[in-house]
Amino acid sequence: MARTPIIAGNWKMFKTVSEAVSFFNEVKGGAEVDGVESVICAPFTNLPALVEAAKGTKIAIGAQNLHFEDNGAYTGEISGVMLADLGVKYVIVGHSERRAYFGETDEIVNKKVVAAFKHGLTPILCVGEKLEEREAGETKNVCKVQTEGGLKGLSAEQAAKTVIAYEPIWAIGTGKSSTAGDAEDVIAYIREVVASLYDQATADAVRIQYGGSVKPANVQEYMGQANIDGALVGGASLEPASYIALVEGAK
Ligand code: PGA
Repeated sequence: MARTPIIAGNWKMFKTVSEAVSFFNEVKGGAEVDGVESVICAPFTNLPALVEAAKGTKIAIGAQNLHFEDNGAYTGEISGVMLADLGVKYVIVGHSERRAYFGETDEIVNKKVVAAFKHGLTPILCVGEKLEEREAGETKNVCKVQTEGGLKGLSAEQAAKTVIAYEPIWAIGTGKSSTAGDAEDVIAYIREVVASLYDQATADAVRIQYGGSVKPANVQEYMGQANIDGALVGGASLEPASYIALVEGAK
């Protein structure tokens, strides 16, 4: 079954509103390639302006986090209700920086994935091992636990719609990317985990990205692998020309 490749830029805590809008005006057109989905995941403050700018384009806008409750006394948090109301389509959930710096556990990540679906948002569920886990031969086990934890309680239909991003933590923002072959091996395994949780049709439908120091110069190597359906890109998604090249490279 053909899966549509998906490139998602994760801007992290970069860009003011005016910087976001001028970026968008530069990538419009160029980062719209037939047969490739293009998503920009921006800081909350940029989302209204980006959703407006993206109207009539093929570029979708995503958030980088959400709270799992719809509303309540959670100072500083943003809910799925609020994101859906804006017209946001995607939301990154369980990024390793959220797990490491903001204490997100698999249980919290799962509640966020469930909340995303409740409000019609597509979650980009991040999984991946730390360097010491890789060195201890724990990579696949860590990815299995995080995938099972993140997808818990989802229907097969929801699981099939989830985008999973395999991001080895030691490769994020370090310039040290996983080889395409190593990434393919882990991603094929994550697909097997989805098959064992659901069935082969669900596993064949779910899109799994690689993330970690992806750039225009290496994106095609990853995209050439049978199980890799796109990339979640931090640093190289911040410059318009680079972002356009990433989307073109995913064809
Ligand atoms: P990077 O970040 O592309 O800068 O390594 C990827 C990510 O954190 O999603």
